This record gives sequence, structure tokens and C-alpha cells, in this order.
Amino acid sequence: MKRLILASNNRKKLLELQAILEDTGIEVLSQREAGCDFEVDENGETFEENAYLKAFAVTQATGEAAIADDSGLCVDALGGEPGVYSARYTGNHEDTDEMRNDYLLSKLEDVENRSARFVSCICCTLPNGDVLRARGECEGEILRESRGSLGFGYDPIFLPEGFSLSMGEISPEVKNAISHRAKALDEFKKELREYNAAHK
Ligand code: IMP
Repeated sequence: MKRLILASNNRKKLLELQAILEDTGIEVLSQREAGCDFEVDENGETFEENAYLKAFAVTQATGEAAIADDSGLCVDALGGEPGVYSARYTGNHEDTDEMRNDYLLSKLEDVENRSARFVSCICCTLPNGDVLRARGECEGEILRESRGSLGFGYDPIFLPEGFSLSMGEISPEVKNAISHRAKALDEFKKELREYNAAHK
């Protein structure tokens, strides 16, 4: 496999994937760069289902291998919310990350249990119909206020376990070593090595 199309146009996600997959020599490009100008309806009930829906749509449209990450934040005190609704938690897709962070903080205003985790499910669909999957989680807790402006999404309100800096304050290199996406992609790289070895 020489290149993989990321079923997303999220630039920050693309940069993270490119950095983490750099050592594989596989070129990763966004779906827009591959000529796919559509948005897939993420109507699955799980991260796994949504990742498959996104990757499969791009493979169907291009005839090429595609990779999708469906990810989000799961907060224990909120019964796992926002979960698969992470990107549209306020009810409006157009709202900013900052608005979603404020909304989540307001929901947890009087809540003592702050435990939460980021989850990433990776799905890679191949033109021959084969599918590779991987999952990664990053444990932590929700802060009481936003800290830092690095990363994206809920990073400024998430304190990774064992750290005193929020995910929005740590460098991209450190985030890419500990994040849910990094763990899922490490697992994916292992799956891909095994797949390649079995299909020589
Ligand atoms: P997706 O693009 O449908 O997978 O939506 C993922 C959403 O989950 C993003 O819009 C963010 O709100 C959140 N999310 C996923 N990964 C991260 C991360 O690494 N940091 C912060 N927020 C994230």
C-alpha cells in the first residue's frame, strides 16, 4: 500500500495521522485532495460503525484504500456522553470547539467525578473488500476550566492521566505519543504488518 485516503477534511486530524504514520512510508491525503467532495452521514451508534461508514464511502468513490478515525470524548458522570456526538454536542455542527467546551464544563459544574477518556476507532477499507480495525483510549479527567490552545476539540479541558498539563498545553509530539489516536494507529500499524505478511 503506497497511499491512504483519510476519510475526513479535518486538517488537524490529517496532520496527526501523517505524523504518526510517517514511519510506514505510506502517504496520507485528505478526501478533498482525492477528489471526494461529500460528507458521510455519521449515523452509526458506535465509533466503530461510524469509522467504517466513512472509510467505506471513500473506498467506494475512489477505488482506493481509505482510512477513517471516528473519535470522541466519553465522560463517566455523563453516562459516556458526548461520545459519538462529540463533534455536534451543542446540537449545532457550526458551533466552535470553544462553545462545545463551555457547554461540557457547564454540564459538569457541580460534578465531583471528572473521569473521562478519549476514544479513537480506526477503520481501513481496502479495494478488495477487506477491512482492518483498531481502537485506542486515553484516560484522564475533565478540568474545571480551559487551558492551552494547542491541539483541537476538547483538548484544552482534558487532563491526561499522569500529566499536570492539559492536552491543549502539551506539544504535538507529546500528544502524538500518548493520545487515543496514537494508540489506535499503533495497533493499526501492527494489523497492517500482519495483513501484509499474510498477503504477500
Ligand atoms: P469525528 O471527526 O466525527 O471523529 O469527531 C470527533 C470529535 O471528537 C471532534 O470534533 C472533537 O470534538 C472530538 N475529538 C476527537 N479527537 C480529539 C482529540 O484528539 N482532541 C480533542 N477532541 C477530539
